[in-house]
Amino acid sequence: MSKPNILVVEDETKIARVLELELEFEGYQVTKAHDGMEGLRLYREKEWDLLLLDIMLPGLSGTDLLKRIRSGDEETPVIMLTAKDAVRDKVTGLDLGANDYVTKPFEIEELLARIRAALRTKSEQQVMRMEDLTVNVNTHEVHRGEKSIELTAKEFSLLVYLMKNKRQVLNREQLLEGVWGFDYYGDTNIVDVYIRYLRNKMDKGYETKLIHTVRGVGYVLKDAR
Ligand code: CA
Repeated sequence: MSKPNILVVEDETKIARVLELELEFEGYQVTKAHDGMEGLRLYREKEWDLLLLDIMLPGLSGTDLLKRIRSGDEETPVIMLTAKDAVRDKVTGLDLGANDYVTKPFEIEELLARIRAALRTKSEQQVMRMEDLTVNVNTHEVHRGEKSIELTAKEFSLLVYLMKNKRQVLNREQLLEGVWGFDYYGDTNIVDVYIRYLRNKMDKGYETKLIHTVRGVGYVLKDAR
């Protein structure tokens, strides 16, 4: 299994650096953003296992960032970093859908325990969403809105791979390697064939298409955001 990836949005460079070192030491993959807008941009780039958001941030505050995230994503666990005694921040954060909060200055062991707990909750759910598409990794159920979509095992793997790398343009070689594995020696056309199967099942007849062709490059799964 790949390392869980965590997006840390924290403007205080010292704290961000400490978090990065500690989390990487624990085996997480860490990306840092130093203000709210950068955090939002990075958030939209891919699927994150967990977000660590400071509340007081330049550009866009942690609570505003959380609001934007929760408007279309109920799943990604979010832990807020709040100033000591800022009770109102905690309440607002939890009301807006944060999973947990840790007050600064924090004990790293406590933060790590909360991260582990939040990640456990996430792996139990394992439902990925985009627009009206939901993909349940445990039960292999796929829906658009209320409609159930039947996929073969390979189509399902392809969809999960696209979801995990949503909004990133993937070329045929990446898709081949990610879905079929290194040991596949066939033609890369198989990717186009399976993309067509998937489109027929999950995009055809729907106003919002989720799979997009990037001419000369490959494919990208993205919503209207
Ligand atoms: Ca701050």
